[in-house]
Amino acid sequence: MKSLIVSPSGVRGIVGEDLVPEVVMRFARAFGKLMDKGKIVVGSDTRTSNEMFKYAAFSGLLSMGCKVVDLDICPTPSIQLMVKQLRAQGGIVITGSHNPVEWNALKFIRSDGIFLYPEEGKKLLKIYENSIPQVGWDKIGTIFRDDSAIDNHLRKILEVVDKEKIRKKKFKVVLDACNGAGALISPLLLNELGCKVIKINCTPNGIFPHPPEPIPSNLGQLCTVVKSEGADVGFAHDADADRLAIVSEKGEALPEDYTLLLATRFILKKSKGLVVTNVCATQALDEVAQEFGCEVIRTKVGDVWVSRLMREKGAVIGGEGNGGVIIPQINYARDGIAAIALLLEYLAQENKPVSQLADNLPQYFMVKKKLKASLASFTKVEQRFKKKFGKEKLSFLDGIKVMKKEGWVHIRMSGTEPIIRVIAEAKSELEAEKLAQWAIERIRE
Ligand code: MG
Repeated sequence: MKSLIVSPSGVRGIVGEDLVPEVVMRFARAFGKLMDKGKIVVGSDTRTSNEMFKYAAFSGLLSMGCKVVDLDICPTPSIQLMVKQLRAQGGIVITGSHNPVEWNALKFIRSDGIFLYPEEGKKLLKIYENSIPQVGWDKIGTIFRDDSAIDNHLRKILEVVDKEKIRKKKFKVVLDACNGAGALISPLLLNELGCKVIKINCTPNGIFPHPPEPIPSNLGQLCTVVKSEGADVGFAHDADADRLAIVSEKGEALPEDYTLLLATRFILKKSKGLVVTNVCATQALDEVAQEFGCEVIRTKVGDVWVSRLMREKGAVIGGEGNGGVIIPQINYARDGIAAIALLLEYLAQENKPVSQLADNLPQYFMVKKKLKASLASFTKVEQRFKKKFGKEKLSFLDGIKVMKKEGWVHIRMSGTEPIIRVIAEAKSELEAEKLAQWAIERIRE
């Protein structure tokens, strides 16, 4: 088991190497036990391994006496919403999300549509590691097929945006779904919103034409098509469409975190309230919130922490810097599809090109570095920082965050690789680079 990464937020690995049907079936059985044999919704992105894993998950759930609802291929946010809609006990999503094609993973959903809280994930792992007795012949579960997840999600999104305002603009939009699950829903949404849609990579076959992480370096084709078609905007999803990236009318990919920044500016303009994001999202979000006299609260890294705190505190918007926007009116889930509708309404309202809306955002530069390290060495680094600095400059919410006059730097042990990640942000690239170097020197001391 080399690549298998088991954590309270799920399990992932390289298909056929160590993420194999036996592992999926056992996790499904453990989840069936955790959820006390209730109704469990199962769906997947488009990866070629998903049929194989889907039936393994079904087998595991049936052996525990669960009522399985098969949603087949669906975006992750559509599956999360269906768990709530069907009043299911929980859900399993089979998706490698933004990871390369050879990877796949399982994520587990609570009855409220949010991913398992870490303490529940730990319970699941404990069940997984011990023997899991299955039911007898007369208590085996059942399977129902349900094809309403996409319609249900679309309906919900169309309820919360001003459709007429968007339709009047007749936007020309290029969509790159990376042949993932977003191909099944986002073109329908754009049609409903009166857009002229140019689809690229919208065959939901799981053969990714470029790496599925929607970061600027993977969006070359989308940028080219936006420009050549003279489109108003380009949108890109990862394989399960919980993330959204934006390309301006000039054919330039916006930095990943602009999706949340633009969505936040739009929402706060409509209704003031609390914003929630993780500890290493851009400082620009605080500036956007301050324009409206609103506050940003930060959580540990991981969307479940953000969703959870948003619900507890009644936030109006939240998400992560990777293009994951959470809109509570829809669900406490990162939703790249709903984010499209929101951004189109913003464009319609402001009547300005995307590039101008982007230029009007507070400008920051972020640099990201990696250092090889073990968990033991990271703990030593953390202890050293705790000793050396006063509390006012530091946060140990998740790793180490040092706030300095010129910006901030965040140092954190990766949850998935033996590396320390260093992220620094400042008003200029040079200052951000200097901050990162400062942190790296302190780590190596
Ligand atoms: Mg994803």
